[in-house]
Amino acid sequence: MNSFEWTEAKTVEDAVARMGGSSVVKAGGLDLLDRMKEGISTPARLVNIRNVAGLDAIREDAKTGLHLGPLVTLAQLDASSLVRRRYTALADAAGHAATPQIRNVATVGGNLLQRPRCWYFRSEDFHCLKKGGDTCFALEGENQYHAIFGNRVCAIVHPSATATALVALGARLELTGPGGKREVALEDFFVTPEKDVRRENSIGEKELITAVRVPPLSQGTRSVYLKQGEKESFDWPVADVAVVLERSGVRCTRASIVLGAAAPVPLRVRAAEEALEGRAVNEETARVAASAAVRGATPLSRNGYKVPIFETLVRRAIMAAA
Ligand SMILES: Cc1cc2nc3c(=O)[nH]c(=O)nc-3n(C[C@H](O)[C@H](O)[C@H](O)COP(=O)(O)OP(=O)(O)OC[C@H]3O[C@@H](n4cnc5c(N)ncnc54)[C@H](O)[C@@H]3O)c2cc1C
Ligand code: SF4
Repeated sequence: MNSFEWTEAKTVEDAVARMGGSSVVKAGGLDLLDRMKEGISTPARLVNIRNVAGLDAIREDAKTGLHLGPLVTLAQLDASSLVRRRYTALADAAGHAATPQIRNVATVGGNLLQRPRCWYFRSEDFHCLKKGGDTCFALEGENQYHAIFGNRVCAIVHPSATATALVALGARLELTGPGGKREVALEDFFVTPEKDVRRENSIGEKELITAVRVPPLSQGTRSVYLKQGEKESFDWPVADVAVVLERSGVRCTRASIVLGAAAPVPLRVRAAEEALEGRAVNEETARVAASAAVRGATPLSRNGYKVPIFETLVRRAIMAAA
């Protein structure tokens, strides 16, 4: 691990002024410090935002929906009766991630921006495409936890559980930089390897996530998040799914279905959504939608097992939401 300077930001403006170059923001520090210990991130200065006041609020407004400060922890999301009652998929995504100790420290901002878990990326010994090399070692190598969609250039899966739920819930990010604030739909924030293999999102070097917002949900909207791990443990999922259903009677009026751990970005599966919209939600339509969700998958040599897992999770999540 390289030696580095530690600085304390007191306000958002203070943090933004200190960012850029080899200065990097630290929230809970779980992912960042791991990368520094692994020797794949070597910032000269950390800007600690953990003590910036006012960035850990959870509140709801009938007009604007749910507001989350970026320092809200996964444990807070899991424990919040408001989030659990109204935005169940998000509470479950946070509550099923990692361990209680990690959830107490991990922030939602850091969770969305954590870097991929690909073991070639995490090892100093492999200079792969994502680190500026010329090869993706996973394509012909140990790819059992890698992507089954969008995996032709770099086969990472996006590691964030909260991203899976938040994309399904239509969340937006507020980003604050030297020029002021901008807002972006979370779905559009993530960047595919085809666009830029070196990054996973479009945050600017001197930008801070200052809020995560979920628009108001219509009456009766139900959301579900399901995670399948390799075993009952604290690890990242081999597959996770978030489903949000709006219904009128038994008929689905709008569906949002997102696969996590399937592609380099949280993957909205529109064919599955279309298979439900305008129809009654039942075992039969859930089965058709689940089959549409995995159509077109391009599994690698060792991860074909993920396809039926995703199909099953999507069907179960639709039925649970209904
Ligand atoms: C054993 C283990 C199991 C895990 N299992 C899961 C799992 O199942 N699902 C899951 O989703 N995660 C899992 N995680 C990952 C963990 O949840 C993340 O590492 C954590 O959420 C990161 O949050 P943090 O606040 O510590 O981020 P940090 O490490 O502080 O930051 C991460 C990155 O985001 C940047 N950053 C942080 N906050 C901001 C901000 N507000 N604005 C701009 N940039 C910012 C930092 O510069 C850094 O690059 C697991 C981790 C471990 C160790
Ligand atoms: S999947 Fe991406 S991060 Fe992993 S080895 Fe291939 S290029 Fe590198």
